[in-house]
Amino acid sequence: MQLNLMYRGRLASCNYDCSYCPFAKRRDTRATLLQDAADLTRFVEWAGQQAQHQLSILFTPWGEALTRRYYREALLTLAAMPQVQRVAIQTNLSVMPDWLVDAPPSKVSLWCTFHPDQTPSARFLARVARLTALQVPHSIGMVGIRAFFPAIADMRLALPATTYLWVNAYWDEGRDYYQAHEAAWLRQIDPWFEHNLSPPPSLGVACRAGESALSVDGAGNLRPCHFVNEPLGNLYQHDWAARLRTKPCPNPVCDCYIGYVHRHDQPFAAEFGWGALGRVPLYFRWQRPVGWVATAPQGHP
Ligand code: SF4
Ligand code: SF4
Repeated sequence: MQLNLMYRGRLASCNYDCSYCPFAKRRDTRATLLQDAADLTRFVEWAGQQAQHQLSILFTPWGEALTRRYYREALLTLAAMPQVQRVAIQTNLSVMPDWLVDAPPSKVSLWCTFHPDQTPSARFLARVARLTALQVPHSIGMVGIRAFFPAIADMRLALPATTYLWVNAYWDEGRDYYQAHEAAWLRQIDPWFEHNLSPPPSLGVACRAGESALSVDGAGNLRPCHFVNEPLGNLYQHDWAARLRTKPCPNPVCDCYIGYVHRHDQPFAAEFGWGALGRVPLYFRWQRPVGWVATAPQGHP
């Protein structure tokens, strides 16, 4: 069986302080970190016993996990398993990726977010260059806050043309945050921005969540995805495989990539292929649109 697992453990601490994030500068207690590490060890051991499955695993921590050695070691251990096809993780890339030097080629990918008010772009780009030198598949992304538009333009121009820069729509100030010309400008940077900004209704659509993709927490509890609370048993206790089936989505909207990537009616399986979990398109080359101005639009045209 081909199975995609989205793992989200207890860890919720982060070394950054993003204004748009509830986990900014949050600290986990020592007891929480010990339990998180024990949970992760159990998950890795479970994966090691699944020779009958083909696993792709995406870590979607609440906070930043790669500052913890036990996450770095878990990714390398998983990547060495023949039944693990891919392993990916969301990260702020604050840790230099040298720990990946011995990772099996192309098995680990990093879904990196640049937070321009948390770290200098030169420091971030040095880490991206190291990822490129190590041939680690990666995508780079930013939150589409209006104040970040100049930094988004600078990042797009600084990255290699073959590196995908995604932009997540910013919703904290309402669904009508963007002027039409601002959304158009962002679409010129991220060709899939519209899927994030204005996804088609998801209620009733067929989705791989619950069919060949599952959300799993540190205790092994299973759900179709991070956004649907239907319990599907426990990875370590129940015959969860017998419960997998295609089901219509119960939510009216699915506007996060880690969700809508699984929709059957969306293009990501075809266009991202093996890179889908790490948000890495199969083929990407950014071409500066004719007339594109790096001076980001602000407010009304
Ligand atoms: S880096 Fe990510 S987890 Fe950390 S505060 Fe910023 S948005 Fe939150
Ligand atoms: S469309 Fe999104 S919210 Fe609905 S089941 Fe799929 S991943 Fe979950």
